[in-house]
Amino acid sequence: MAARFISHCGARLGRPNLHSLVWEGGHLLLDCGGPRAPLDALPSPPDAVWVSHAHGDHCGGLPDLFGRAPGARLLTSRITKALLPFAVSEAVGQKARAVPWRRFVDIGGGARLLALEAGHVPGAAMALVEIDVADRSEPIRVLYTGDFCTHELVTLSGAGLPVLDGRIDALVIETVLAADAKADEVEYESEVARLREVVAAQPGPVLVGVTSVGESTEVAAVLEGVGKVVLVDEFLRPLFEAVGRDGEFGDRRRMREHLATGGVVIAPGDQLRAHSSGGRLLGEIEEDDTARVVVLNRAREKTPAGRLVRRGVGRGEGGQAGGASVSRHLLINHAPRWQLMAMIQGLAPRRTFLVHGTTGARWALKRALEGGGYRGDVVVVEEGEELVIGEDQIGQA
Ligand SMILES: [Zn+2]
Ligand SMILES: [Zn+2]
Repeated sequence: MAARFISHCGARLGRPNLHSLVWEGGHLLLDCGGPRAPLDALPSPPDAVWVSHAHGDHCGGLPDLFGRAPGARLLTSRITKALLPFAVSEAVGQKARAVPWRRFVDIGGGARLLALEAGHVPGAAMALVEIDVADRSEPIRVLYTGDFCTHELVTLSGAGLPVLDGRIDALVIETVLAADAKADEVEYESEVARLREVVAAQPGPVLVGVTSVGESTEVAAVLEGVGKVVLVDEFLRPLFEAVGRDGEFGDRRRMREHLATGGVVIAPGDQLRAHSSGGRLLGEIEEDDTARVVVLNRAREKTPAGRLVRRGVGRGEGGQAGGASVSRHLLINHAPRWQLMAMIQGLAPRRTFLVHGTTGARWALKRALEGGGYRGDVVVVEEGEELVIGEDQIGQA
């Protein structure tokens, strides 16, 4: 008896992650991103849902899911459970059962799940699912990485290469940075050092726009001890508390005052989008020659961060144009291509399912793996496609 993997959504980049692992005894949902996850596509109500981490594209669909399948169990790491009230809702947080690190827990239907640290953001976890099947000597093994990275962050260890008793039948792996050549060259420690130097040397105010879960606590830790008072948006206080980190917090008025006196402010606002806290504060300092705007990671073209980076890296530094200096720092928390290759080649699963990346990037990674001597089957997953796991080994019991 084989198992099946179906990616309903999230095989491509920028879509909520919603994948099913189905076998004779059960149906486990792997992530439930939102808000518009196609829950109508599920083959049956799931028995349980595994949430890899507290980013909206992995957990934002949970309220809808529980509206339809109130009996489904919710499994996640302890820290993700603590973050779910912030990321989704109090009710969803209370529903979650925290799974310990590196210890199998029974999930019913003849299956068990092992959570492994994934790096990326606080609480992020990979799930190894083992399913006992009658006609096979070994269980079917599926590893779902969720978002991950193997390099160390300042606040988090990177994911290790899982050491397992047997071979993995299917590895479902994210590929967000698979084709990002710049990310592939990042030396994380150097990026951290450069950001610290830039902030320490700035004569005037510094505004850092961050994503809430992950970047905010990481940047606060990076900037510890730079010799300036770093103020964090009050909105982020519960998140810092959930992951056990200190900070100095202030509301919008205090952040404005702090910037006016040349302080450093960390405010939520991925790519400093207009409606965000960081986006609103940008207007306060953009024309200030002594100020600096720090853009982290993504800076897509149509966002304020993209516009700033295009127009302004080095602006003010050469002394010609007025206004705030802008710098971009790649504090990446996804695996770049070399880490993806190392993970896949190191684990040598029978089948590798590439998800959560652009189709072009996933095809490029598939070609690189095949050219690099990987002997397993690499699938650029199509949304809605059903993939069989474990069939090749049936009859070898
Ligand atoms: Zn994520
Ligand atoms: Zn993601």
